[in-house]
Amino acid sequence: MPDITSPFGGLTIDFGATGNAAPLAAVPVASASPAAESPHETNVLILGSGPAGLTAAIYAARANLAPIVLAGFQPGGQLTITSEVENYPGFPEGIQGPELMARFRQQAERFGTRVVDVEADRVDFSSRPFRAWAAGVEYRAQAVIVATGASALWMGLASEERLRGQGVSACATCDGFFFRDKAVAVVGGGDTALEEALYLTRFASKVHLLHRRDEFRASRIMQARAESHPGIEIHRGVTVDEVLGGESVTGVRLRDVATGTTRDLPVEGFFVAIGHRPNTAPFETWLAKDEKGYLVVEHETHSSIEGVFIAGDVHDHRYRQAVTAAGDGCRAAIDAERWLEEHEPAEAVVATAG
Ligand code: NAP
Repeated sequence: MPDITSPFGGLTIDFGATGNAAPLAAVPVASASPAAESPHETNVLILGSGPAGLTAAIYAARANLAPIVLAGFQPGGQLTITSEVENYPGFPEGIQGPELMARFRQQAERFGTRVVDVEADRVDFSSRPFRAWAAGVEYRAQAVIVATGASALWMGLASEERLRGQGVSACATCDGFFFRDKAVAVVGGGDTALEEALYLTRFASKVHLLHRRDEFRASRIMQARAESHPGIEIHRGVTVDEVLGGESVTGVRLRDVATGTTRDLPVEGFFVAIGHRPNTAPFETWLAKDEKGYLVVEHETHSSIEGVFIAGDVHDHRYRQAVTAAGDGCRAAIDAERWLEEHEPAEAVVATAG
């Protein structure tokens, strides 16, 4: 069972031992506005604690907005389920995903962000102050940044979960490099699976593409590329019964959909690419979604509701990178700060009107 009391799923991150990160002193933060005085009221409420949410928090906190972050069901976001991150700028030797996110969080907290390890399950964006509920507590905010990210879909096998980070991955861009000269398998038949399979050919000795049907869902051009690539072997009409291996992946057990027979395929990496789902549940009645279910950004980082901003993978299904999400979080915080400058806090507006 994961340790739900730990913000990083039970992983202990020792900054002293890792060397480069000196302990950060707390920076005194001036009181921003009356809204910041209650533990559940803030100028900027940030939903989500991946690279987008925590970067938004760093910027909002340094702008003296005393943000509250509701970290969500996976504090630190998707990077906490990957191993080494080698493409985040500034870490030439690479950095473990959980440690990177712990540093994001430490940096946000240093400037006065309050990160609460709860998931917002309901919001009311009908008027300011905006409201959100998490673990039975109501939070109120003058502006909200939605950065709840997306979740990779998993197959739901116990062996898949047990070997996650030990050869099982949902991100070839993140983890492909570790499979140099090794055989790997990718499961899925959409554009993501084919893109991941093609990407993995840069490293792997062999990429087995496993699809449960005969026909791919992916675009024709991606199909043509995968079918003609000498490094990819396509297995149609197969499902995965089990990921094999004790400490790390040694193979997958395939089942032929037509005959029901099983066989073991030796691989050292197993990439699940059966789609992502943006985490939009609390916003269903408030924010517009596109045809793929991702939140729609109206202009820059603004949503269709004034004062509610959107950042990161919850709206971005194109890039899905930590660095692009972080950039998006920065933009959303700057947009929120400027918007707040132009709009009096809601209580003050009501008081003036009365
Ligand atoms: P997707 O199009 O929904 O494809 C998911 C694939 O996974 C399908 O082939 C599906 O099989 C398979 N699958 C689902 N659940 C499975 C399970 N439990 N076991 C085995 N296979 C399973 O998802 P996606 O590939 O992530 O693409 C999402 C969207 O992003 C699409 O619109 C895609 O075009 C787009 N996209 C575009 C690009 C690009 O343009 N470069 C790149 C990536 C994604 P079935 O086919 O049998 O249902």
